[in-house]
Amino acid sequence: MASNARGLRVANLVRRFGDRAVLDGLDLDIAPGEFVALLGRSGSGKSTLLRAIAGLDYDVTGTGELDVPDRVSVAFQDSRLLPWLRVLDNVVLGVGGSDAREHGRQALAEVGLEGRERAWPSELSGGEQQRVALARCLVRDPEVLLADEPFGSLDALTRIRMHGLLRELCARHRPAVLLVTHDVDEAVELADRVVVLEDGRIRLDVAVTLPAPRSHRDPGFQSYRDQL
Ligand code: ADP
Ligand code: MG
Repeated sequence: MASNARGLRVANLVRRFGDRAVLDGLDLDIAPGEFVALLGRSGSGKSTLLRAIAGLDYDVTGTGELDVPDRVSVAFQDSRLLPWLRVLDNVVLGVGGSDAREHGRQALAEVGLEGRERAWPSELSGGEQQRVALARCLVRDPEVLLADEPFGSLDALTRIRMHGLLRELCARHRPAVLLVTHDVDEAVELADRVVVLEDGRIRLDVAVTLPAPRSHRDPGFQSYRDQL
């Protein structure tokens, strides 16, 4: 990651659907290399916030300020791989440069999928498809990585493996991360900071100071659960 990497700054962001302001003057800063988990009830606006930050929402209004680097990658709950493209072609789709495919192969190796470059998405398990989605993010060398419940549809064991992998990748590439999850334990385990979205704003912002890797058996883990 370039040393001039930028984090993410969101100030006074407003998003209305009809009369209702789902995001109502929301502020959030994430430093380069910082890992933030976003919690909030279903319907509280987490996905709306991610879409706004990713630039996928043209109807963000208000006096909002959105300072986001160019290189933003998004991972969703479903991998959103294109079924008619092989794994490597999915990873490098839209990436320019003569060495794109080589970088794609490296990214696949990083997520443990060496040798699966020519497989079709339908030949992979759900967990493997999510790893391809992570490789697709990595190959873009993101300054900001947004993830919307990326492990929500995985079984418990695969989810644990994905936690380890994500932690490793983030330690190596140091993007600013915003991970949406509904799992408090996952949030505390992975993040440097846990924030809670409620009534259109960040209502709680808690630094997690337990040393990584963290397990819910750690003394102290419970205290974060209690705060959230
Ligand atoms: P979360 O991801 O936290 O579950 P969302 O961001 O998906 O919540 O949705 C927040 C609120 O905004 C919900 O009440 C939802 O119904 C509403 N909403 C989201 N997208 C639209 C849309 N395109 N049109 C109208 N309402 C929407
Ligand atoms: Mg959502």
